[in-house]
Amino acid sequence: MKRDNSRRLFKEAKKYIPGGVNSPVRAFNAVGGDPVFMEKAAGAYLYDVDGNKYIDFIGTWGPAILGHANPNVIEALKRKIENGTSFGTPTEPEVELAKLVTANVPGADMVRFVNSGTEATMTAIRLARGYTGRDKIVKFEGCYHGHSDGLLVKAGSGGATLNIPTSPGVPRDYIKNTIVLPFNDADALKKTLHDEEIAGVIMEPVAGNMGVVVGSQEFLEAVRVGCTETGAVLIFDEVMSGFRVHEKGAQGLLGVIADLVCLGKVIGGGMPVGAIAGGREIMSYLAPEGNVYQAGTLSGNPIAMTAGIKTLEVFYNENVMKYLRETGEILEAGLEKLSEKYKGISYNVVGGMFTLFFCDEEPANFEEVSKCDFERFSKFFTFMLDNGILIPPSQYEANFLSFAHAKKEIVRYLELTEKFLKI
Ligand code: PMP
Repeated sequence: MKRDNSRRLFKEAKKYIPGGVNSPVRAFNAVGGDPVFMEKAAGAYLYDVDGNKYIDFIGTWGPAILGHANPNVIEALKRKIENGTSFGTPTEPEVELAKLVTANVPGADMVRFVNSGTEATMTAIRLARGYTGRDKIVKFEGCYHGHSDGLLVKAGSGGATLNIPTSPGVPRDYIKNTIVLPFNDADALKKTLHDEEIAGVIMEPVAGNMGVVVGSQEFLEAVRVGCTETGAVLIFDEVMSGFRVHEKGAQGLLGVIADLVCLGKVIGGGMPVGAIAGGREIMSYLAPEGNVYQAGTLSGNPIAMTAGIKTLEVFYNENVMKYLRETGEILEAGLEKLSEKYKGISYNVVGGMFTLFFCDEEPANFEEVSKCDFERFSKFFTFMLDNGILIPPSQYEANFLSFAHAKKEIVRYLELTEKFLKI
């Protein structure tokens, strides 16, 4: 497969953009090779600047729940854009999307729209702190919540008090109020909630940033009960899992209801949107109703809201979740067969998200994912790419299914995976 134009563009891009990309994971650093520059997308397919076609399992990292360039979404955007792109005033689509989101996110009476998942989690944490009057927050190893300072932290070997920033430029002072605990460890969480004054616990209930790892029922119940008993705000980061693992997100799938829910990706239908949703009491602490400050020039942008409205309308009208569950079952059955036949792989399929892990047992936390065979994963990635399938270029990332992925695309993925496993 020739990718000369991509190579040329990447060389050029590196002169003007650090690393040649506007988000690090796109650079293929974890797997080697040059990134592919895409020109267009339709349904389950991406087309690169050299005329190659790929089945896409990145799905723009989550938003493309309907597949690419869904005609309903594109038509609505074309019509809307004629009226202008941004007004800096309230607009009707904000109210419409707010109604759709609150009607479908358990526990949400109100919502504030922002421009990214990072902004959503950053605001949720500020709100939790403003609401409780406390400073400390708990996060879990392997859960990613965007790139704000206080969240770029990993647990140090000396325990929770000796955290390490995961990026230069993050002052130790900024992370001293962040406690990092292992995912799926109910005992560690109970102890921390008991010992410390915690403002909020932030987590991905279905984690998608260490591959797909689901919070166990015992763990989630400990989180919920612990937060209720101690007055800490439970924040579910459903930026990835919202409108993707269940009609009502991870809350609907797992039956545990948070105090605040962060959303993004799908609710923007491919445009930059994030959101914080929650009960009326806590949400009313946000400015201008309350005094926890938060703002944004382009927040609630009418074009972005329109993409979100149309995406969610199709999602519910066409019963997309039911379709994803059915497609997911075909994939899961195929992966099960492969894992019985070949050593060294395990998998997890949850709604429209999945990961093929290069380790024997399905991992339950970050440490276990870290023991996967990353070298083999890199070879798998390159093999798939060269054969016309684009998967995320990292073992730690989730793959995404969409309404546009038919049985034939799943079968092709399974066939190629088996071909690789035989090598
Ligand atoms: N939370 C989760 C769970 C995410 O997966 C991501 C992005 N992958 C974010 C937050 C950050 O979102 P954004 O990239 O839109 O800032």
